[in-house]
Amino acid sequence: MSVVPGSSLGPFRYCPLCAAPLSVTHAESIPRRFCEPCGRVYYHNPVPAAGGVVRDGECVLLVRRRFPPRPGAWTLPAGFLEYFESPEACAEREVQEETGLSVKIDSLFGVYAGHDDPRQTAVLILYHMRTTGGVLTPGDDAIEAKFFPLSQCPEEIAFQAHRQALGDLRALDDAGPRGKDVNRCAG
Ligand SMILES: [Zn+2]
Repeated sequence: MSVVPGSSLGPFRYCPLCAAPLSVTHAESIPRRFCEPCGRVYYHNPVPAAGGVVRDGECVLLVRRRFPPRPGAWTLPAGFLEYFESPEACAEREVQEETGLSVKIDSLFGVYAGHDDPRQTAVLILYHMRTTGGVLTPGDDAIEAKFFPLSQCPEEIAFQAHRQALGDLRALDDAGPRGKDVNRCAG
């Protein structure tokens, strides 16, 4: 997976603490912004995101994005971690906010690198989830929330990490008994 050149420098040109212009240093042989008065290196790291793989028979729950980047495209329900939040709590919160369904995590599904979100690079952590209640309703960030047969997902998936996860899910279904289920979707 390629990374945007220069992205290790991050967006800051001035120190957010003392307002001095930042220089560039090479820590661990990687160029990084550095504040000489503060003696502080500004590391620019990926942001963790978490979400859910929610199934209904052969179908998987997707949401359609309302806001940029890539409005109108579909993703698995997921979002960025709050500073104080665990990945598990974030994943359950995001699925509930975006789809109206209450969910509980069953197990870890997979972890994916996200390098095609123009806002920042991300690490996407996805869990197998089961629904425990609620009504399928798109949240404020979503135009639609809908179960799709895995073989008939929309072509426009917003991010590579989500395309990769759906591909892995298809491979898992093809290898297991769920792949023989008839097509049936709740919404
Ligand atoms: Zn400074």
